[in-house]
Amino acid sequence: MSHPIDRIVAEVDRAADEIVRFTRDLVRIPTVNPPGAEYAACASFLETDLVRRGFAVERFVADRSPDHSTRYPRVNVVGSRNGARAGRVVHLNGHIDVVPAGDGWTVDPFAGVVRDGRIYGRGVCDMKAGLAAAVFASEAIARAGVSYPGTIEVSGTVDEESGGFAGVAHLAEIGRLAQIRTDFVIIPEPLNVDRICIGHRGVYWFELTTRGRIAHGSMPFLGVSAIDRMNDVLSAIRGELEPELARRLTAMPVVPDAARHATINVNAIDGGQLVDGIQTPCVADRCRAVFDRRFLIEEGFEAVRDEIAALVERTLAGACDYELRELMVVNPVRTPDGSPLVGALDGAIRRVLGSSARLVASPGTYDQKHVARIAGVSHCVAYGPGELELAHQPDESCSIEDLLNATKVIALATLDLLGAER
Ligand SMILES: [Zn+2]
Repeated sequence: MSHPIDRIVAEVDRAADEIVRFTRDLVRIPTVNPPGAEYAACASFLETDLVRRGFAVERFVADRSPDHSTRYPRVNVVGSRNGARAGRVVHLNGHIDVVPAGDGWTVDPFAGVVRDGRIYGRGVCDMKAGLAAAVFASEAIARAGVSYPGTIEVSGTVDEESGGFAGVAHLAEIGRLAQIRTDFVIIPEPLNVDRICIGHRGVYWFELTTRGRIAHGSMPFLGVSAIDRMNDVLSAIRGELEPELARRLTAMPVVPDAARHATINVNAIDGGQLVDGIQTPCVADRCRAVFDRRFLIEEGFEAVRDEIAALVERTLAGACDYELRELMVVNPVRTPDGSPLVGALDGAIRRVLGSSARLVASPGTYDQKHVARIAGVSHCVAYGPGELELAHQPDESCSIEDLLNATKVIALATLDLLGAER
């Protein structure tokens, strides 16, 4: 009998049409977030499929989530398939939600169009092809008749695009994903088929409100403009902070290269009168802005927060009252050096693609933060089919060749981590 690796690779190739069909079926369920449409339908589709393949399936509804409602339920599905005896647990997790289609499409975003070797549709790359790769990685191992110890788990979770709190964070909070029961987690996000993503930068969202003093707009010198004071802060950010952030460079292999530096973006600004309202001659007495500071693992959150607080105080002290409010903090995560998970995926990528893997880190965050921080599972990476640059774009698509290759890589790496018995 041929080697298990060759049999698994052959089973993926034989299942090519089924894998494409499964991906298209997922794309045709428009699980758009917000608001979180069709989650129950997609969860049921996945549940039925996994049961048919011999998985034991559990459903976890995050009914305490503020976004959960009877109209838009937050339904997560976890399937597990046990091997010949107890052993390690490899968990493959994909989010089922997709961002809204937006404008600029040349094909129906929810039809699952196949053209020139690619599948098109909203969420095909981010990350329904990845979910298909996870399901069929496990299926190929089963069809190849390879016996293994331990358990393969496949989960479909919600709300990754809006923070993952009712999805992976929920599974971690209730202990379904946990250090004591989960050894390795692979998240098939679209990081390109030859790259392994070992974590992400941190996020600090904060809101600044400046308070001025209202006065007649014909005599602005009698008031204090909250907009002008906010402008002083923006100038300080541009003139002082940004050059400093550009000098900071992380050792993590964040892509694209420019994202290896710390960054700051202004998300929103709102001050004075409503632009569309009736105008009166008044000095703006209030201005609010929301900022998105992305920080490096080397910086540490406290230092980042203190640096912002010091800049704001230095700029506004004695000029106006202000309020600085923390909106969201996500600490950076990094898979430990020498993780067997990285080794297994690298070996599988060499086998399937004939070249070694490139390690990367993500400029934005994804569900690895919850796996690492809440569940305590540090051996987690993102690896999956699809090109990162196509995610959230019009005419989002995934190459079928990449989809099949990623399925093979995930299957071989999973088997390596569990330890095949032939
Ligand atoms: Zn994603």
